[in-house]
Amino acid sequence: SKASNRGGVTVYSADHETKIMSAKALEATLRAADLDAEMHLSLQPIVNGRHGTVAAVEALARWTSPILGNVPPDSFIAVAERSGLMHDLTLVLLKKALGIAARLPGEIKLSFNLSAHDITSPPTMLAIVAMVQRSGVDATRLIFEVTETAVIRDFNAAEHSIRLLRSLGCHVALDDFGTGYSSLSHLHRLPIDRVKIDRSFMPGCNSETGRNLLRSVRALCTSMEIVCIAEGVETDSQVSILRQLGYEFFQGYHYARPMPFEALEEWLAAREA
Ligand code: C2E
Ligand code: CA
Ligand code: CA
Ligand code: CA
Repeated sequence: SKASNRGGVTVYSADHETKIMSAKALEATLRAADLDAEMHLSLQPIVNGRHGTVAAVEALARWTSPILGNVPPDSFIAVAERSGLMHDLTLVLLKKALGIAARLPGEIKLSFNLSAHDITSPPTMLAIVAMVQRSGVDATRLIFEVTETAVIRDFNAAEHSIRLLRSLGCHVALDDFGTGYSSLSHLHRLPIDRVKIDRSFMPGCNSETGRNLLRSVRALCTSMEIVCIAEGVETDSQVSILRQLGYEFFQGYHYARPMPFEALEEWLAAREA
């Protein structure tokens, strides 16, 4: 587990065995990697549970290294953040994400993750804006996800970046909601229009206090006219409880795992039929 590997990083070798390697070695491999060739995006649907439609897909980074095999994003994103590689990585991924958005049906939005580095780096934000504007993709079809933790790291910079994205017409979601601190004041001060309630709250469906918490988050979002998305939804019973609590948007293994673009196209076509 991550807690027990003492600063090492979890990677998966080509034979799918979990391996631990030093962060330094991982950093060196990432630095030498051909990002455009080795990185790709896996796509997970975000479903409107009331209408049964697909509202958006979240793009999740995948690294298949010819040396290391598949490295999970939690590992390489953290390394990229620490070693000055995040700017290049984000732009390579965004370019791929915009290409995917252009190929998706117009009513499906594309949700893209920004890291703490990205939203506190003016050069990165300017490059993001330029890339979005050049892409020809309607900005209102893009959602940028920023985590609560990243926002807390430099609130003023984060607020500025979020305003910039919103001024283009993009949507911005506060990701992993509930895992950071002073969430209520953040919700109030940031021009976000979506919240993704962290998956650690989903087991709460099974207890009275958990349901009360989920209900009050939902009510808070409604009162602020913020779209609320439940992440990490894994079971039928979670969906029905969340729907009773007023939730409308769901993402999780119950609907679909993240998948490559071609598989997503098939998955969408099968729902149409
Ligand atoms: P996240 O943004 O919170 O993404 C959701 C994570 O939950 C994904 O893990 C997804 O595969 C997983 N997930 C989805 N549904 C379920 C479910 O029902 N149950 C469970 N247990 N898990 C579910 P993944 O793809 O391993 O990504 C991990 C994290 O890495 C992401 O968390 C995000 O913080 C970061 N990440 C991934 N791609 C990018 C990226 O392109 N840029 C940045 N900055 N960070 C990224
Ligand atoms: Ca996310
Ligand atoms: Ca999340
Ligand atoms: Ca997360």
